[in-house]
Order: sequence, then structure tokens, then C-alpha cells
Amino acid sequence: MSLPLPTTLSPSKISAFKHCPLQFRFSVIDRLPEPPSPAASKGTLIHRALERLMLRPPAGRTPAAALADLDRARLELADHPEFAGLDLDAEALDAFHADARAMVLRYFEVEDPAEVRAIGLELRLSVEVGSLTLRGVIDRLELDEDGELVVTDYKTGKAPTVRYEQGRLDGVQFYAYLCEAVLGRRPARIQLLHLADPVAIVATPSDQSVRGLQGRVGAIWQAVHRACEREDFRPNPGPLCDWCSFKAYCPAFGGDPAAARGQLFDVSAA
Ligand code: SF4
Repeated sequence: MSLPLPTTLSPSKISAFKHCPLQFRFSVIDRLPEPPSPAASKGTLIHRALERLMLRPPAGRTPAAALADLDRARLELADHPEFAGLDLDAEALDAFHADARAMVLRYFEVEDPAEVRAIGLELRLSVEVGSLTLRGVIDRLELDEDGELVVTDYKTGKAPTVRYEQGRLDGVQFYAYLCEAVLGRRPARIQLLHLADPVAIVATPSDQSVRGLQGRVGAIWQAVHRACEREDFRPNPGPLCDWCSFKAYCPAFGGDPAAARGQLFDVSAA
């Protein structure tokens, strides 16, 4: 018997598989529920605030407007399970929102939003490759001063060291590939705006980088295929395990993956 293959791949799924195949299985194949995390929820809030900011006329994209957009995003998302389910006391909630405000203000240190010519926000693109759908959501697609496409991805986590920069850029290279496949034009630039540091990591897609990305995505897809066929998704313990929702079921920590599937049946039956 083999496990069902996923039908879609996105940058986050590719990164999840590379990080830990077993965590990928729990999340993508078994679809086990995960509690909301403050870091991911803060990212959602900030992305929504910056999306709102870009909907304003260029001259109106000021720090005060960005903070007002953050407040509106907070109201808009208050009932969303990702926020309503956060288990934070009053002090932790204050720190959460203070950090979100600080990050929105730091955004102005990486670029001047009045100069951005956005043509797409939270843009969903997908392309079929055989039986597989490659898909992604581009935070911002814009035109530069020469009318060329630029893909921008906001990051609310720490910027990677030089050693891990290529891995992070793979996500935006993936978006550049989707742009070319769907819109018929390769972006002239891709950029990651790390708001916590703040720093911008910029790269230029080329024939070589696109071929490299296609090769890496193909290799990951083959590895997922093999793991499903053999039902063999191995744990890859590391420093991030303390934040893994499935640690209790992980054999690397004495857990039993079968118990996780029992949890899934309980949830379905509820
Ligand atoms: S605890 Fe660590 S090794 Fe185990 S599934 Fe989670 S990320 Fe993977």
C-alpha cells in the first residue's frame, strides 16, 4: 500500500519537506490539524496591513497610514481562527501587537512605498506540470522604472545567514518561474524584504537560476513520490522541533505516529 500523492506543490510545501519529511507527512498528507502559532499569525497580520497600504495612492503610504492599516487589519482578522485560537495572556498579546507595529515601521527602512508601482497584491498563480499543480501566492507584483516585472515577498522572520540565503530565495525563484509560465514574462528582479532586521535580499532570475529551480523542484517531487510509495517519511530532528505541532507523535522524541492518525479520526468524528 502507498500513501496518496499530494496534487499540488508550493514553496511552503517544498520548504516543509526539505525541513522534515515526517512533519510534511503529518501536515500535507495526513492533514492533521495544527494550533495557530503567534509567529505565523503575526506574519498574516503584517501582510494584510502592507497589502492595505499598497492599495492607497502612493503619496498616502506613510508610516501613520501603515499603522492605521495595521489597526484595521487587526479588527478584520479578530474572529479568524488563526487569531481567535491564539493562547496568549494580556501581556503576551500586548507584546505581540507591539512587535507587529515595530515591524510595520521597520518596513519603511527597506524601501519607500510611495515609489512602488504595484500591479498585483496577494496574486494567486498556478501552472500544471503533468498531474501536478505548482502554485503560489505572490505578496506583491510590481513594475520597476523600466516597466519590468519585480516580485516581492515580505518575510517577518529573521533574515537567513549567507549560507541559507539560496534556500530562502528558492521561494521567490519559484514565484518568478510561475510569473514566466503564466504571464509569459520573466521578472527582472525578485526580492525578499525581511522586516525584522530589516534587510532586502535581491536576486536576478536567469536561464541558469530557472533551470536550477526546476531541477530542485523535480528532485523534491521525486523524493515525495518515493516517500509516499514506501510510506517512508523520516523525522529530521533539529532546533525547530520545539515549535513543531507534532512533536508528541514523533519517534525521534519517543512518540508514535500511529497515535497522530488516531487523533485525526477523533477530529473527523467530532
Ligand atoms: S519534532 Fe522535529 S523531527 Fe519530529 S516531526 Fe517535528 S520537526 Fe520533524
